[in-house]
Amino acid sequence: MSNEQTRFVIDSSLGTLAKWLKIMGFDAHYQSLYQDNEIEKILKEGRTLLTKNRQLQDRLDPLILITHNKIKDQLLELKNPGFLPMDRKYWFRRCIICNVPLHSVQSQYARGRIPDFVIHQNTGEIKFCPKCKRYFWPGSHRVRMIKQLEAWGL
Ligand SMILES: [Zn+2]
Repeated sequence: MSNEQTRFVIDSSLGTLAKWLKIMGFDAHYQSLYQDNEIEKILKEGRTLLTKNRQLQDRLDPLILITHNKIKDQLLELKNPGFLPMDRKYWFRRCIICNVPLHSVQSQYARGRIPDFVIHQNTGEIKFCPKCKRYFWPGSHRVRMIKQLEAWGL
C-alpha cells in the first residue's frame, strides 16, 4: 500500500488531521458536515473512517478510533500501528483543498499565474490542481511544513 492507495474518510471534528494527511499525499476525504448515512456511503469507496466518536464503533466499519486531541499525537497514533505508509515521495502531491492528485506543469504554462521568481527558481517543480486550478510550488511555506512533520516524528 502506498500513500496514494491509503484512503480515508474523516469525520467533521478532525479537520486538522485531514489537512496534514493530504499534505502527506493520503486520500483523505473530509467534509465539515455530513448528511445522515453519508459516511456509510463514502466508506463503500474502499475508505477507512477516522473518528473520535466511540458510538460509531458498533455501526461503521472499517473504522479507526482517534483518541488524542493534539495533531502530533493523532498522527503518531495512526503511524505507529502502521496505518500510514511513510513514503516521502508522496508528500505535497495532493491538493489540500480538493483532495485530488496534483498535475505537474511546465513552468511556461504557469507564467502570469504565479510570481516570476517562482518560475525562475522552480523549473519543473510547479504543480497544478485540476479541480480548483490553484498552482503549488516548493517554497518557504513547504519547508516549514516539512520541518513541522519531522519535529512531530513523521
Ligand atoms: Zn484543488
